[in-house]
Amino acid sequence: MKVAVFSTKSYDREYLEKSNADFGHKIHYFETPLSPTTTDLTVGFDAVCVFVNDKIDRGMIEKLSKNNVKIIALRCAGYNNLDVKAAHENNIKVVRVPSYSPEAVAEHAVALILTLNRKTHKAYNRVREGNFSLENLIGFNLNKRTVGVIGTGIIGIAFCKIMLGFGCQVIAYDIHESEKLKELGVQYKSLDELFSAADIISLHCPLTPETHHLINKKAFSSMKKGVMIINTGRGGLINTDDVIQALKHKKIDYLGIDVYEQEADLFFNDLSESVIQDDLILRLISFPNVLITSHQAFLTKEALTQIASTTLQNLSDFENEILLVNELK
Ligand code: NAD
Repeated sequence: MKVAVFSTKSYDREYLEKSNADFGHKIHYFETPLSPTTTDLTVGFDAVCVFVNDKIDRGMIEKLSKNNVKIIALRCAGYNNLDVKAAHENNIKVVRVPSYSPEAVAEHAVALILTLNRKTHKAYNRVREGNFSLENLIGFNLNKRTVGVIGTGIIGIAFCKIMLGFGCQVIAYDIHESEKLKELGVQYKSLDELFSAADIISLHCPLTPETHHLINKKAFSSMKKGVMIINTGRGGLINTDDVIQALKHKKIDYLGIDVYEQEADLFFNDLSESVIQDDLILRLISFPNVLITSHQAFLTKEALTQIASTTLQNLSDFENEILLVNELK
């Protein structure tokens, strides 16, 4: 198939090229995101392949349909950035990569916890400057702490298992409970019970109308003072204004985020020589107890290999009229 890949980074190209040796699609790589102004680049392509921050609304889908694009391949699991209903109404199939490496994301959430807690990022910089002082580097034991997990799908399950390994008490909230996790000792609670009991809260649910701003002023008021919040889910799960207030008032002691509600204009780009216009991210960066990574939780060799092969397999299945197991309906 003729495939237009948008928002291409060097690692996307490297892994798609390697995998395409088995598939033989004709791939053209665009560095630009797919946006209302770049939709016309899709003329002559059967498929477009996009990532998390390519926002595809109804108007763009109608244009894609006019350009004869037949399928949109998301090279990610989440699909909150795409109007799936509009795609169906315009006879465009949508496929995704529902599972590539849940461990990659779960392990990154743990990396955020350990870094915030044991302050290894600060120690690294200090030692490089000949500062061997331990002042202000005190952490806490994870053992016996209560960890609250919101969303226990494949990533949440992988995360729970790691935290159980640390000797944490793991509690969870999900609209569908996992029997497997219960057998491992995870206790399901109501959202309010989880907020009030957890020392660490980690978000692993999708962004939906129900979960939008799940972590807001009201939620903070139910939480323990000094709680740690970790978000590797989607930025919109947290109300950014409210989290800044909670940090200012020392309601939360640590915030680790790999996703940010207004990330689309920032993340994945080198803006080191630019004047950043987003005052909220600058305020977040200014806190000593906030750690931000720019949507890199998925970025492991294993995950990139799986993303590339599943994406190209999805396209081949469509071409060969085989049942699309990863289709969004
Ligand atoms: P999944 O579908 O396996 O699990 C999601 C879980 O959330 C399910 O158990 C579901 O029942 C639960 N859920 C849905 N609505 C809920 C609600 N209102 N309240 C509580 N729980 C709810 O998905 P997954 O693969 O585990 O991924 C979870 C999310 O992680 C994705 O939706 C995506 O947004 C995010 N993600 C981030 C990265 C990254 O690089 N940072 C990478 C992959 C996925």
